[in-house]
Amino acid sequence: MELRFLALYPEQMNIYADRGNVVFLRRRCEWRGIEFSYAAAGPGERFDPDAHDFLYLGGGQDRDQRAVAADMVASKRDAIASAVEDDAVILAVCGGYQLLGHSYQLGEERLPGLGLVDLETTRGEGSRLIGNIAIEVDLGEGPRTVAGFENHGGRTHLGPGAEPLGRVLKGHGNNGEDGFEGVHRGNLIGTYLHGPLLPKNAWLADWLIGRALERRYGTRPELAPLDDEMEQAAHDSARRAALA
Ligand code: GLN
Repeated sequence: MELRFLALYPEQMNIYADRGNVVFLRRRCEWRGIEFSYAAAGPGERFDPDAHDFLYLGGGQDRDQRAVAADMVASKRDAIASAVEDDAVILAVCGGYQLLGHSYQLGEERLPGLGLVDLETTRGEGSRLIGNIAIEVDLGEGPRTVAGFENHGGRTHLGPGAEPLGRVLKGHGNNGEDGFEGVHRGNLIGTYLHGPLLPKNAWLADWLIGRALERRYGTRPELAPLDDEMEQAAHDSARRAALA
């Protein structure tokens, strides 16, 4: 089997070691004898939506988002939307998550988003939302905890057509007010959690790998269990840091 992975703007959108998510996915595939084929699409580059089953967009500072937002809409929106409609996995973190929505409003300036999900982000007047965070997530397999770290000035509000990824147990989440974190629709996940996210939440990495392979091969494979002692320790530590 092969996991066909596409990193969107890996040079521009990579903050707080979000690239670690990619390393982690690669390792978990390779340890199981699943080939991990990595491709990247940067500024101006187009891609074939049928050629990749897992799209990834990391976080970035406002200036990084400024550099990619319009370019992404112009050169990649149609391919991303077509892949997502056809059940490709997409994971977007923080700055990347914000760009999945309609727009990111920074004062007078409006950065266009992909419009894949019904959400809006506005740069608030108040302080940045920073700290350790734990959320409760149910992706159809019962409630699980996802733990990580958030640091964002933007406040995200979901529209009536969008479902959150989870409920905040401790931390700020989408906007520090409504108790929601992230967005989830089918195989699309957007979240504010760094850490990086996946090494601290190995079950989520496997959920995503399973979905991407299912898109390619038609059935969800039984993923061989791995020795997750280190991953469990990383999760417990991130969770403790948030809930303490
Ligand atoms: N620049 C965005 C914000 O501050 C996203 C930050 C990030 O990706 N950590 O809201």
